[in-house]
Amino acid sequence: MSQKIKCCVVKDILPLYAENLCSEETAEIVREHIENCESCRRLSEEVEIEEKAPEKIPDEAKAMKKINKKIKRSKKAVIASVCVLLAVLIPVALLWENMIWQNEKIPSFETLAQNSEVKVLAEMIYEEDFNSLIHRITPSGIYGDKQTQTAVIDEKINNLESIYRALIGENKAVDTKCRTYYTFDVYEERTNHKAVVSDVTVEYSDGRVLTFSFFKENGIGRFTWGCTSDGSFDEKLIEEFNQVTLDKK
Ligand SMILES: [Zn+2]
Repeated sequence: MSQKIKCCVVKDILPLYAENLCSEETAEIVREHIENCESCRRLSEEVEIEEKAPEKIPDEAKAMKKINKKIKRSKKAVIASVCVLLAVLIPVALLWENMIWQNEKIPSFETLAQNSEVKVLAEMIYEEDFNSLIHRITPSGIYGDKQTQTAVIDEKINNLESIYRALIGENKAVDTKCRTYYTFDVYEERTNHKAVVSDVTVEYSDGRVLTFSFFKENGIGRFTWGCTSDGSFDEKLIEEFNQVTLDKK
């Protein structure tokens, strides 16, 4: 076999030949040699495979990208599900947190309805708007003609405003919380009487807290209400305040 060049030279050139980097003349010599030399042909095939190998990496990269995309997509799905769950659970938890489910395994419509009703009253206390408060919770409980009713209501409002002012002084309400629950012992003498009680706790700028309790027996009729404190407020004034509000007729 007549060989123009030696196998060792071909071996050195093969990587260039595989990448088409050698001159046409050199390529022709290598081609000729390979055709006639079994070992160099095999070597050139191996080199070609090696040269092509990097092209396979993008395939693998693509596969990895696909997998990553899938992972990202499923991650997004999980995050979306968690968000939806939180969007539902947070309002429920907030509603729950605002109440004491005393004697109730789950909140009844009656409790929920009263709680939202009393939240409006809580806002009126916060704003010191006793005019709206009294008109809202004393609609028809005062007897006599219209003129007498108006006079009684006006007197109530004036009394409450002055007692309240004396109670809290220069303080302002800074926070209110409303909790509603069932109880069976509003009146000690009638323990089997069910009432829905809403406690509105009002925190003042000096840190003291008053609790205004609104309740309806069996959830119907007018509210009866009054306030209590932890003892940090003048008890005599609280008693006066309650005499104006608690009219058990
Ligand atoms: Zn050879």
